[in-house]
Amino acid sequence: MRNRSQGARSKLREYLLRNVGRVFETEELRQAAGNKTEWARRIRELRTEEGYKILTHNDRSDLKPGQYLLEDPKPQPAFARGVSKEVRAYVLDRNGFTCQMCGAPAGETHPYDAARKTRLQIGHIIDKSMGGSDDPENLRAICSVCNEGARNLTLDRPSQRKLLIQIRRATGEDQLAVLRWLASKFPQQIVRFAADAPKKNPAK
Ligand SMILES: [Zn+2]
Repeated sequence: MRNRSQGARSKLREYLLRNVGRVFETEELRQAAGNKTEWARRIRELRTEEGYKILTHNDRSDLKPGQYLLEDPKPQPAFARGVSKEVRAYVLDRNGFTCQMCGAPAGETHPYDAARKTRLQIGHIIDKSMGGSDDPENLRAICSVCNEGARNLTLDRPSQRKLLIQIRRATGEDQLAVLRWLASKFPQQIVRFAADAPKKNPAK
């Protein structure tokens, strides 16, 4: 039973991904799911569990009831309700698309669970039940693994001193990987630092 429903879900996922941006009618999706009566539930799972932006008339006024549309092939991170799309994008960008608890970058294999790709969600720093707001200052990117509390990870950020020691001890190859990552995060600063850096062999 479980396998059958999984099958319908993957059939629907594949079908939708092959037809991004096209409007579907109910009947077409029912057929794509192999005529499973539960196809609407599978669509809901693709939305809520996998984060695919499958839109209906509730999301877009140009869609009629019974019509569906997959707008973007990339699944969206699950989000805190009440947080706008813009604020979500802003917080993810500010946090460098990296989990603020374990440091895992979005879309890459999760460092503590190789079976999962890192999916970022927006979490509250001070929980809403404790009076925390939906303001960007109270929001941060958290991966689904950390959000579930599946692991007791240390929340402390490494100190700058320890971090520098670790990098100095690393292999040149690993140092370059760090540099590459930093350069993509701080492109302007990298150019400035490079210009300011003392030349080892001045060509004067
Ligand atoms: Zn995490």
